[in-house]
Amino acid sequence: MLNPGYTTLSKFAIEQIPAGPNARDLASLLVDVAAVTKAISAAVRKGPLLGLSGLAGSENAQGEAQKKLDLLSDELFTRGIEWSGLVGALASEEMDEVRMVAGRGRLALVYDPLDGSGNLDVNVAVGSIFSVLELPEGAVGPEAVLQKGARQVAAGYAIYGPSTELVLTVGRGTHGFTLDREIGNYVLTAPDMRIPARTSEYAINSSNRRFWEPPVTRYVDECKAGREGPRGRDFNMRWVASLVADVHRIMVRGGVYLYPRDQRDACREGRLRLMYEGNPMAFLVEQAGGLASTGRGRIMDVEPAALHQRVPVIIGSSEEVERIDLYHREYDCGEDQPYSSPLFAERSLFINT
Ligand code: MN
Ligand code: MN
Repeated sequence: MLNPGYTTLSKFAIEQIPAGPNARDLASLLVDVAAVTKAISAAVRKGPLLGLSGLAGSENAQGEAQKKLDLLSDELFTRGIEWSGLVGALASEEMDEVRMVAGRGRLALVYDPLDGSGNLDVNVAVGSIFSVLELPEGAVGPEAVLQKGARQVAAGYAIYGPSTELVLTVGRGTHGFTLDREIGNYVLTAPDMRIPARTSEYAINSSNRRFWEPPVTRYVDECKAGREGPRGRDFNMRWVASLVADVHRIMVRGGVYLYPRDQRDACREGRLRLMYEGNPMAFLVEQAGGLASTGRGRIMDVEPAALHQRVPVIIGSSEEVERIDLYHREYDCGEDQPYSSPLFAERSLFINT
């Protein structure tokens, strides 16, 4: 039943965005981004009927294979955003470099046009992630976009699941909208989302265990030990392998998600990208009462040096993130107390250095 008092995204944006020189532009930009996500949602839900399954035969700047839908989504973003004059810079996972846009736009939009695209073939939820920054006065070069996450003025993601939802923050809480396809609007359905501080659910790709640092192994082992272990309660594990889907679950019912730094490649800081994955998710999660850490500091305080920079991500319910941070501190100052359970013979198979 249609509720005549429903709140659309544009109404919400106009009411919520704090006053400032870019407030009107930001409201308009968010409406444009929402329109882009509606188009991507329409494309994604067509599945193989669209005739755009599979690889495009190209690679992005990080050498990762691009799917046809990665490229279509990226083009929907650039074409849907660039024309308006609201942004002075655009950058995405699929672009080699920041794209400066001539004109009066003082906002910068950084985005992952299609997150989790590896899951498309198996019909699992995927999404789009975006971050909005303000360009400093007089900024003309691409380096003006390289600002820490604490400077974001808005962030959000769209999740293309059984329903399409848009989760958004402009620094005044995190709010969820559901796409009503008949009306063509995003309607506010989850105002002021709150991530519970306490959780018994964690998410990590366990196949990377042999590369983890000791504090992460310690944390996961303690969770797995359940009621008999040092945590004194049983934990569940979930892993969709689609950042948007994993974070959305945490946004709705709590949990902690880890894509930690690992020891495969000493110069590689985790796998996720700071500017268009870590920062926007950190902003959303913090605004919902959760925490977002690298294990050794707040994600949003990391000073970016490059557009495609990677970052370790430990994000979600505050009690767990604080605990994992503590384990990193103890490890770094040599006071680590690794958990060793007689139940897990596997521990003895691996020597963590
Ligand atoms: Mn992604
Ligand atoms: Mn992507």
